[in-house]
Amino acid sequence: MKIDNVSKSFGNNKVLNNINLYLPAGSVTAIIGPSGSGKSTLLRSINHLERIDEGFITVNNDFIGYRKQGDTLFELKEKEILKQRIDIAMVFQNFNLFPHMTVLENIIEAPIQTKNMKYEDAVASAFNLLSRVGLLDKAYSYPRQLSGGQQQRVAIARALALQPKVILFDEPTSALDPELVGEVLEIIKELALTGTTLVVVTHEINFAYEIADTIIFMESGNIIEKGSPEAVFHNPQHQRTQDFLNKVL
Ligand code: ADP
Ligand code: MG
Repeated sequence: MKIDNVSKSFGNNKVLNNINLYLPAGSVTAIIGPSGSGKSTLLRSINHLERIDEGFITVNNDFIGYRKQGDTLFELKEKEILKQRIDIAMVFQNFNLFPHMTVLENIIEAPIQTKNMKYEDAVASAFNLLSRVGLLDKAYSYPRQLSGGQQQRVAIARALALQPKVILFDEPTSALDPELVGEVLEIIKELALTGTTLVVVTHEINFAYEIADTIIFMESGNIIEKGSPEAVFHNPQHQRTQDFLNKVL
């Protein structure tokens, strides 16, 4: 995935300022930074939930949200954007499960609707995924009957059901009670070993250290620092990175 010179403002608040990033297939990137630094906006732009003002984002040379014809980019129709999102899943802080659907229905919905998967195949795949996230016994439960950690594990299973190339996690454990954080991080850790490209916004510094090959520190819409976990955490080149780490460690 390539993020090329991306800028985004809300009114006159410039939230992303010429962001450039190259994330190779299979890479695991953790984004850290203070609240309001643009982390969610960057993830949402990657998924075309936000329209960017400048620059472009490509996955496997496909322009996210646009089609290139000659030198001109044409915005895709909503239906085509939905199709693109099959390749780029997003897991939110607040799980965003469909409350009126069972766990199983939550997982099979998108594969059936957007990938025309057969019901039986979607169900079989969903049970595989539920086994992977340790929730086989919850297939027929509703989200409200699950703990936050279990809901987030369902949300991850739902994301995986579309076999995305990229999964974006936006503070996946921030809404969880401390004792439930570990079970979700464990699942993401396993995913990191499977070759799916992951981008994780997190405040869990130890977790970021363990799973990421690249750490990005953002502040005020800028990438201040980027490097290996060892480099960024043990030997930050910028005082602002150090100040932030002093606060969160
Ligand atoms: P982070 O995820 O790092 O906390 P965000 O990307 O959510 O930061 O927000 C970055 C900035 O953009 C903040 O100043 C926030 O108030 C602003 N912002 C985010 N979304 C919107 C929106 N839809 N409309 C106006 N301002 C927004
Ligand atoms: Mg955010």
